[in-house]
Amino acid sequence: MQNILDFNLEDLKQWISEEGESTFRAKQILDWIYKGTLEFDQMNNIPKSLIEKLKDKFYFSIPEVVDKFKSDIDGTEKFLLAYNDGNLIECVVMRYKHGNSICVSTQVGCRMGCKFCASTVGGMVRNLSSGEIIAQVLVAQKITGERISNIVLMGSGEPLDNYENVIKFIRLVNASYGLNIGQRHITLSTCGLVPEIMKLADEDLQITLAISLHAPNDVLRKTMMPVANKYSIDEILEACKYYINKTNRRITFEYSLVSNVNDNEEQAKELCEILKGMLCHVNLIPVNEVRENNFKKSTSEKIKKFGNILNSCGIETTVRREMGADINAACGQLRRSYLEARKDNKGV
Ligand code: SAH
Repeated sequence: MQNILDFNLEDLKQWISEEGESTFRAKQILDWIYKGTLEFDQMNNIPKSLIEKLKDKFYFSIPEVVDKFKSDIDGTEKFLLAYNDGNLIECVVMRYKHGNSICVSTQVGCRMGCKFCASTVGGMVRNLSSGEIIAQVLVAQKITGERISNIVLMGSGEPLDNYENVIKFIRLVNASYGLNIGQRHITLSTCGLVPEIMKLADEDLQITLAISLHAPNDVLRKTMMPVANKYSIDEILEACKYYINKTNRRITFEYSLVSNVNDNEEQAKELCEILKGMLCHVNLIPVNEVRENNFKKSTSEKIKKFGNILNSCGIETTVRREMGADINAACGQLRRSYLEARKDNKGV
């Protein structure tokens, strides 16, 4: 049996033609699925014989909702989902004036080891398939009863460390027979895997690329992000310039501000120096304090000052609004607390 959500139009057409059926059925089936019908028996324009074949060959891998939380402050909803092998991931739906945005996870855990991030604490368990990632969107739409119009790949996992599945997911989300979400409404965030950024630039996609920079020099970055030992900021910026040349898209640099680590004036000026003249935008994120480390959030005065310095150098800067602060919405934290509780119950 295979997860039908892992099949795109080409895959399904191929299987259908091997079964000796008409290939136009593939689009009809996917139309049903992406309009929210997750049972073959309800697809009433598909011949019974084909429905039986579909039922023999495929299942829908829809994760179970283990827990859900809704913020009283801004309506942000967070779901803890379990796949059928018991692995847990989180996704978050944020409500903005311009529509609903979902933050999806791309891996169970993460192996990048960023010191401030809760997702990486237990290492990486496995990649998610494209269908398992898209199922997060389908579940969220079903529970909220509302359309998702924006996707950010900023949950647990490093999207470019699960390259093929993530690209397949993005193309399926974007396809008119899929979720029909515009490429410009999709943002992929990476800690900076240089060869994959170059590869992504060649995909001919119009998605927004966000780079987790978090430091203006390699010495500091290495203390926060082990990946900095592999790729220098210079190499990342070169890859970003290649991405801009290929796509004409503005890059977002994410910079999580940690008190007395990366938030002083000198560092803001250093950041101006390295980003000067680039087609980019900086998103300052007040660091989310997680239990497993002792990184502390910068004060709002410091965040403001840091942003003002960047703006005065002509670098457009915004401070990320904290969504769902009352429901532990930052990535990885909910899964961590569940895993801890499980461990306690087993008396390990
Ligand atoms: N692996 C990808 C995407 C996942 S994290 C990446 O590294 O970009 C999405 C963003 O949240 C990244 O910029 C990441 O560095 C940041 N982040 C992780 N933990 C955080 C925390 N505790 N506080 C603030 N930002 C955090």
